[in-house]
Amino acid sequence: MALIVQKYGGTSVGTVERIEAVADKVIETKKQGNQVVVVVSAMSGETDRLLSLAKDITSTPTPRELDVLLSTGEQTTIALLSMALEEKGHPAVSYTGGQVHIRTDNEHNKARIVDIEGAKVHKQLAEGKVVVIAGFQGIDEDGNITTLGRGGSDTTAVAMAAALKADECRIYTDVDGVYTADPRVVSDAQRLPRITYEEMLEMASLGSKVLQIRSVEFARKYNVNLRVLSSFEDGPGTLITDEDENMEAALISGIAHNKDEAKLTIVGVPDMPGIASQILGPIADANIEVDMIVQNVGLDNKTDFTFTVNRNDYEKTMAILKKTADAIGAKEVSGDNRIVKISVVGVGMRSHAGIANIMFKALADEGINIQMISTSEIKVSVVVAENYLELGVRTLHAAFGLENGAMSK
Ligand code: ADP
Ligand code: ASP
Ligand code: MG
Repeated sequence: MALIVQKYGGTSVGTVERIEAVADKVIETKKQGNQVVVVVSAMSGETDRLLSLAKDITSTPTPRELDVLLSTGEQTTIALLSMALEEKGHPAVSYTGGQVHIRTDNEHNKARIVDIEGAKVHKQLAEGKVVVIAGFQGIDEDGNITTLGRGGSDTTAVAMAAALKADECRIYTDVDGVYTADPRVVSDAQRLPRITYEEMLEMASLGSKVLQIRSVEFARKYNVNLRVLSSFEDGPGTLITDEDENMEAALISGIAHNKDEAKLTIVGVPDMPGIASQILGPIADANIEVDMIVQNVGLDNKTDFTFTVNRNDYEKTMAILKKTADAIGAKEVSGDNRIVKISVVGVGMRSHAGIANIMFKALADEGINIQMISTSEIKVSVVVAENYLELGVRTLHAAFGLENGAMSK
């Protein structure tokens, strides 16, 4: 008997009919002789709806109270799915994150799972029940409800699979796998039959929201057998796996994009040791993550410093930067929150020069201006104006021939 963790995302549980269809899929898996743990998200749109209710009251909701509110979305779907299973004659039991001891740190709104106690779940499974667990939420040391950041149900599922030593973790969503680019942007994007943990980590961190990045980190760390599949149609999906010798390392496996970025620039900064830390220190102290950084010393020995942050942090960062500019005697501060980051990802890039150049030339041929560039061993990212998002992604997808699947060496 295998133990399988299945996770169903928001669209998959978006209506009562869909919840009933999920129940059928769960029952089918059980009938094949498996034990099944199901992790569900809130109904699609529900987390956004709850967020906007909070924002109607205050622009700065207390993080703790926001978590109490946001966690209710998943509490609804676990109850409904359990009812649907029972109604179809299959015993089921629903649990919130706290009830199955998904212990997290106390970073409200972006908490990290530190421990999961699997005993209760194993006991219910042994009694023949399907266990339905609320995604995206946990509980801190003091018993406060926490949430894991947007898309966090993926992480609940993988962490649960690791804690229970499940045989497989299946992420059911509204696409039938991981594609060479977001299929909503590129119509001829191709499903990847397999992708390495490392590439998936990179894709997720660069904006491919099909999996939350932390879920991939967990999967790699605990060697969870992870697959992304469609909840609407049967198929093999995409297996996330270690690199093995039978797998030809892809030169380019995909194009990722991230719309949640904003860029800030401080100009005419005196060039001296410690200046980067003076600029970025107060931003880090405010718990704002900085992504790309470009610094350039001009002929006048003054430095221009540009960096990107999450778009939600734009105003807050701008206020901090203005204060810093006054304090260090910088000339001016400017910003742009209508930018996007587009990235080309592939582990095979490590041993290949020239990828960046193909990328820059393809964008230039379309008249797309590159505002910032950053590279690592396995990716090249550029920042461009938001209105070039679709053209940029499609251009790069075509430039690397990804309509035929991942580009091999
Ligand atoms: P769920 O609610 O099931 O968690 P998400 O909306 O979080 O679903 O993730 C699935 C979505 O991820 C897809 O609908 C797709 O638009 C988007 N996506 C972005 N990049 C990719 C990619 N490379 N492959 C597949 N889907 C992607
Ligand atoms: N409901 C949460 C969200 O919308 C968590 C998830 O769907 O994974 O982000
Ligand atoms: Mg998701």
